[in-house]
Amino acid sequence: MINVGVLGATGAVGQRFVQLLADHPWFHIQALTASERSSGKLYGNVVQWRMDTPFSDHAGKTVVTPTTVESVKDCDIVFSALPPEIAGKVEAEMADAGIGVCSNARSHRMDPDVPLVIPEVNPDHLGLIDVQRDKGRDGFIVTNPNCSTIVLAMALAPLRRFEFHDVRVATMQAISGGGFQGVSAMDIYDNVVPYIGAEEEKMETETLKIMGTFDGSRIADASFRVSASCHRVPVIDGHTMAIWVDVKESVDEVKKAYASFKSPLSNLPLQPAKPVELLEQPDRPQPRLDRNRGRGMTVSVGRVREGLRFVAMGHNTIRGAAGASVLNAELIYTKKYL
Ligand code: NAP
Repeated sequence: MINVGVLGATGAVGQRFVQLLADHPWFHIQALTASERSSGKLYGNVVQWRMDTPFSDHAGKTVVTPTTVESVKDCDIVFSALPPEIAGKVEAEMADAGIGVCSNARSHRMDPDVPLVIPEVNPDHLGLIDVQRDKGRDGFIVTNPNCSTIVLAMALAPLRRFEFHDVRVATMQAISGGGFQGVSAMDIYDNVVPYIGAEEEKMETETLKIMGTFDGSRIADASFRVSASCHRVPVIDGHTMAIWVDVKESVDEVKKAYASFKSPLSNLPLQPAKPVELLEQPDRPQPRLDRNRGRGMTVSVGRVREGLRFVAMGHNTIRGAAGASVLNAELIYTKKYL
């Protein structure tokens, strides 16, 4: 088994990590870290568990440690669910100390030598790990995209065979995307908040890096343009988005592209059978009905219409965060980077 740690284990994404790692066939939870507030206490006593399945006995009886290199020195990989203001420094220190860091935080996503990976879309970008090692780093940092970017990039991946230049997207994002201390109930109940700090910029830049080309030493960004408008809505989990793309092909050809999109992965424990699933019902996808497809790892697409217009939806704390990181780590393990 590979020993792993979860940084920020008590938060919205950290709890998803603990849930996904509890019975993982390859990874064993060795360390759970959080802030000083939680350190020294049993995970089962300190965490306010918000998931629909109970945490494992093992995780419940693990002592939460401070988020330091010393706390995770016996881990081969750490999964980071730290706030960005903490993640930047700590993740770099751990990677320099020989630990593999799979991060959800935005701090290193746009660093030129850090891969921003979705295994079904740009697995070759993991080659940037060699670039980090050539610069003297013993471990590595690999990041996964922001929770709304990943839904957009996966919905665009089957369309890469067509030519397009202009992508427009309007999101309807779940409250869990803001973490446990995110939007207050008074602000979001009976309401829509048409602003999520820095979210639009992340969608507009990260998508181009993910869909860019890797030449063995650097990523050249994709050349299309993304214009995003982001909104918080009273949904617990699942980010929905309306997307417009200037492809010239017919609706039928686009539907065929979705239906024939296959995962390039094989035998990874968390990979879904269908990374992107086309739903034909006129009122789908919907978060409540479709967010758990493929154990939360499938992005659902529907309402494909002339224009080209369609709707995409994915689970933000699984495919958009913890599940994305665990799938990255599974791919890294099979590529012998550990
Ligand atoms: P959250 O619910 O606020 O959890 C934050 C976690 O970080 C908690 O475990 C907290 O521990 C810990 N922490 C806070 N201050 C710390 C410090 N000074 N030192 C060490 N640990 C500290 O946040 P979240 O939604 O899980 O997000 C975590 C990260 O994932 C962020 O970078 C976020 O941008 C990113 N992300 C989130 C989503 C999503 O859908 N939520 C999606 C993609 C990416 P205590 O409990 O001890 O305070």
